[in-house]
Amino acid sequence: DALAAALPMKPESYTADGTRIQIFANINLLSDLKLADEFRAEGVGLYRSEFPFIIRNDFPSEEEQYRVYKRIVESMGQREVTFRALDIGGDKLLSYQDEVEEANPFLGLRGIRFLLRNKDVFTEQLRAMLRAGAGGNSRIMFPLIASVDEFVEAKELVLQCMKELDGRGVEYNRDTKLGIMVELPSAVTLVEDLAHEVDFMSIGTNDLIQYTLAVDRTNEMVSKLYLAHHPAILRAIDRVVSVARSHRKDVSICGDIARDAKMIPFLLGVGIRKLSLSPRQMFEIQQAVEAVSMEKAVYAARQMLELSRISEMEEFLKNT
Ligand code: PEP
Ligand code: MG
Repeated sequence: DALAAALPMKPESYTADGTRIQIFANINLLSDLKLADEFRAEGVGLYRSEFPFIIRNDFPSEEEQYRVYKRIVESMGQREVTFRALDIGGDKLLSYQDEVEEANPFLGLRGIRFLLRNKDVFTEQLRAMLRAGAGGNSRIMFPLIASVDEFVEAKELVLQCMKELDGRGVEYNRDTKLGIMVELPSAVTLVEDLAHEVDFMSIGTNDLIQYTLAVDRTNEMVSKLYLAHHPAILRAIDRVVSVARSHRKDVSICGDIARDAKMIPFLLGVGIRKLSLSPRQMFEIQQAVEAVSMEKAVYAARQMLELSRISEMEEFLKNT
């Protein structure tokens, strides 16, 4: 890729005053892996597993899924790979899946809700992910978690799958860490309780903005209201990061806010040390990280968390 060759990405990222920040890749298609490597991703922070499901005419078999997931683990070696379980529903529908039409699909049978309702689909995917992780450094993350109960139920299914694989003598990654996307206001409210249960959390601002501000992320009529820098969003991020850190749980951010260079001081300032974003923006984000000191970042975050108006936030961001 000519773009990657022209951009001299360093293998590790540090702020101007030497704080280590990890930059991971969001992967949608297997073809993104090459780009992730060229931009020296430290791992895969989010693999959106819905793509192999969307391009087929029927649910892919466990074997088919295994082969896709294995390619990711193999390409990353000992680098961490976070597989996200299927996040279908909302605007991502499967042509072969006959569900009744929903009036509000984004408030409907999406993400973990779909998976817990379709346990055969879920456990096939879990087995494929567990097996693909053998010999690697893999994690599984559940999308659209709204309650502790959903995480616990999903974790039970993972343990059940592990038992089954043990029974058949099939190899898998026994150290697979289990985590959640924090992308619903309810998860933000319950973050202390969730932090007790999970191994890690990743903040998904794309949905967190949509659900916190009640702004459909796909509706152009309200796109001006879809704001990552809304005070409610910034305070939610601050809360999640500080609770996760106080519970010593790994926390990262994989929503599009992580590829917005002007938001980097805020994210680092509230304690984010791990970003996951599309490989194409990695170089720009590494530069944004290198340009800011932690002292400045903490100061910026403190100031931004005080602001109550969107207009003040915009003024602040314009002047920094
Ligand atoms: C998010 O919601 O921020 C996210 C990363 O997931 P997706 O964009 O796939 O919904
Ligand atoms: Mg999401």
